[in-house]
Amino acid sequence: MAYDFDLFVIGAGSGGVRAARFAAGFGARVAVAESRYLGGTCVNVGCVPKKLLVYGAHFADDFANARGFGWSLDEPTFDWPTLIANKDKEIQRLNGIYRKLLADSGVTLVEGHARLTGPHGVEVDGKTYSAERILIATGGWPQVPDVPGREHAITSNEAFHLDNLPKRIIVVGGGYIAVEFASIFNGLGAQTTLAYRGELFLRGFDGGVRTHLHEELVKHGLDVRFNCDISRIDKQADGSLKVSLKDGGILDTDCVFYATGRRPMLDNLGMENVDVQLDEQGYIKVDEHYQTSEPSILALGDIIGGVQLTPVALAEGMAIARRLYKPEQYRPVDYNHIPTAVFSLPNLGTVGLTEEQALEQGYSVQVFESRFRPMKLTLTDDQERTFMKLVVDAKSDRVLGCHMVGPDAGEIVQSLAVALKAGATKRVFDDTLGVHPTAAEEFVTMRSPVSR
Ligand SMILES: Cc1cc2nc3c(=O)[nH]c(=O)nc-3n(C[C@H](O)[C@H](O)[C@H](O)COP(=O)(O)OP(=O)(O)OC[C@H]3O[C@@H](n4cnc5c(N)ncnc54)[C@H](O)[C@@H]3O)c2cc1C
Repeated sequence: MAYDFDLFVIGAGSGGVRAARFAAGFGARVAVAESRYLGGTCVNVGCVPKKLLVYGAHFADDFANARGFGWSLDEPTFDWPTLIANKDKEIQRLNGIYRKLLADSGVTLVEGHARLTGPHGVEVDGKTYSAERILIATGGWPQVPDVPGREHAITSNEAFHLDNLPKRIIVVGGGYIAVEFASIFNGLGAQTTLAYRGELFLRGFDGGVRTHLHEELVKHGLDVRFNCDISRIDKQADGSLKVSLKDGGILDTDCVFYATGRRPMLDNLGMENVDVQLDEQGYIKVDEHYQTSEPSILALGDIIGGVQLTPVALAEGMAIARRLYKPEQYRPVDYNHIPTAVFSLPNLGTVGLTEEQALEQGYSVQVFESRFRPMKLTLTDDQERTFMKLVVDAKSDRVLGCHMVGPDAGEIVQSLAVALKAGATKRVFDDTLGVHPTAAEEFVTMRSPVSR
C-alpha cells in the first residue's frame, strides 16, 4: 500500500523535531503536526525561557556585589514587562529557526491538533494523512493536585506570561522546576515561599547537595518550608489569596504557583483507535527501539515517562531516525551518566551516581568534598559558599559521581560528564592539572576522603 508519508510525527517539540529532521535528511518522506508552538515545551515554556529568567534574577546579586569592586550604582529597579517582552521576542526568533530547520530538511509541517484514526492514519483539522509509521512525541503538561481553590493557582505555563511580578508568591513543589522558579521570583524581588510537603526537596539528587542548596537558598532570603502541605486556596475580596495549610497554618499571598509534576499529554489523541498500551502512570509503554504495542507506532521523549530532559528526547529522536532510515549509523541511547543541572541561584550540577545510589548498588564508596567561598565573592558581603563532591569506587578507583552547588555548576559538570563517560579514575582526576584560579580546579585537587 502507498502511504502519504513514511513517517508522521505528532508534536514538534525537542524529540519530534529531531526525529523528523534527521529522518527527512536520510531520505524519508516525513510530516510533523504541531498544535501549539514550534520547539515544544523546552523552547516555549521550559528550559529556554526559564534560563533567561534565571539570568534576569541573578542581576540582583551582581548589582549588590559590584559595590565591593568599587562600583556605585543608584538603587537598581526591575521591570518585569520588559523582561517578559524581550524573552518573548527571543522565543519568536527561535520559533522561526525551528520552522526554517523543518522546511530546509524537507519536512512537511502540518499546523493543528493531530488525532490518531488508526495504526496508519492521522487526522488534523478534518484532513486525514496516511503513514507507514507514526511517532508520538506529544510531551507532558503541568499537573495541579485536586485541592479546593486550585483554579486560583498557576503553573509554569502561565508563569512565563504573568502581566506583573507578584509582590508575594508561594511556589509549591520539591522538584527542580519548583526550586528554579522559587529562585527566579526571589531574585527578582518577590517575597517568595517555597512550600514542599516532603522532608527535603530534590529527591533523587545527592544528599550533600540537597542540604547545601537548602542552606544557600535560605541565606538568599527564600522562605523554604518543608513538611508544608496546602489544604485549600481562597480568593479574598482584595484579589489576594488565603492559603490554608494542613497543619492549621495560614499564608497570605498574591500568587500560588504549582510545580508538582507533569502528566503525559494524550488529550484527544485518538488513543481509542489504536492498540497502544500505557504503563501504570499513564505513559506510553515502549521497547528498547521506542516501539509501542502497535507495530506501526513509536513514541519518545516525555510521553514515554523516562528521564524527562531535552537532551534525552533529542537522543531518542536521533536513534529512531538512524535505526529506521540510516541503520549503519544507528547507536542506541546510553542512559548512563546523564548530566543535569538545577538552575537555582546558586546552580546545582550533577552527573553519575549519588553517594546514596552508590551505596545501594553495593560499591565500597569513598567521598571527597570541598566547601569554600568563591573568589569572586571575597570582596563582597555575599556569604554564599560553593560545594563540590566526588563519589569514588574505592575498589576500582573509578569516579562514580560528581556533584556541585555553586556558580556555573551546570557548565562545569557538563565537562566532567565526558570524563565519567570515559571511565576516569580518581587518579586521572588527581593527575589532571587545574586551571588557576577557578572554582572548577577544586574538582582535581581534592585529596583526602571524608571519614564517615
Ligand atoms: C518549566 C520547565 C523547565 C524545564 N527545564 C529544562 C531544562 O532546563 N533542561 C532540560 O533538559 N529539560 C527541561 N525541561 C524538560 C524539557 O522541556 C522536556 O523534557 C522536553 O521538552 C521533552 O521533549 P518532547 O519532545 O518529549 O516534548 P515537548 O517538547 O513537550 O513537545 C511536545 C509537542 O507536542 C505538541 N503536541 C501535543 N499534543 C499534540 C497533538 N495532539 N497534535 C499536535 N501537536 C501536539 C505540543 O504542543 C508540543 O509542542 C523543562 C520543562 C519544563 C516544563
